[in-house]
Amino acid sequence: MARQFDGNKLVVASHNAGKVREIGELLAEFNVTPISAGELGLPEPVEDGDTFIANAEIKALAAAKASGEISLSDDSGFAVEALNGDPGIYSARWAGPGKDFTVAMQAVKDKLEEGGHSIPTPASFICALTLAWPDGHMESFEGRVNGQFVWPMRGDKGFGYDPVFVADGMDITFAEMEPAEKHAISHRADAFRQLINACFGGK
Ligand code: IMP
Repeated sequence: MARQFDGNKLVVASHNAGKVREIGELLAEFNVTPISAGELGLPEPVEDGDTFIANAEIKALAAAKASGEISLSDDSGFAVEALNGDPGIYSARWAGPGKDFTVAMQAVKDKLEEGGHSIPTPASFICALTLAWPDGHMESFEGRVNGQFVWPMRGDKGFGYDPVFVADGMDITFAEMEPAEKHAISHRADAFRQLINACFGGK
């Protein structure tokens, strides 16, 4: 059985205020007060793992050890089957220093064409979540939503690779969906369901 979350404070191992707020909302019903690693002035560790879970574990463990509190991290990205899972853990990096995701989406399309792959082609969003305790214990979960990389980009909601992803059973991209509709089926929702079932008493 997974170790249960038995605190009321939770350090969110991220310097991204939007992510901290979103995680706080997802865990609101469990009386958890999220504090961001940024607020506590914790250093950002080097994410040099070679899987989503490895990177989530690096971030959560560093925050738990430095703060003495139970810490949660997430690591996520977009994986295209025909590109052997790329951009994968490098999803943010493919957008370049300007963090321009039209550049990243175009790069995915160019690589598929260079490889002679037809579009649409199978792709997924993946989200790893790790809950880490100051004694070094960790519980990790990987959520996923499968679908297709499509072209051209469609929609202006969401972020990142949302305009080029259509989930299985849907005919609009994540960027054309209302946020609540995306949140119900997303990789992050899947990972949070697993985390809550395992570590928050399945409430
Ligand atoms: P990180 O886990 O915050 O480093 O995010 C990695 C990257 O994956 C983000 O910058 C996005 O480009 C991409 N990504 C993760 N989740 C989503 C999503 O729900 N929609 C679109 N892109 C995403």
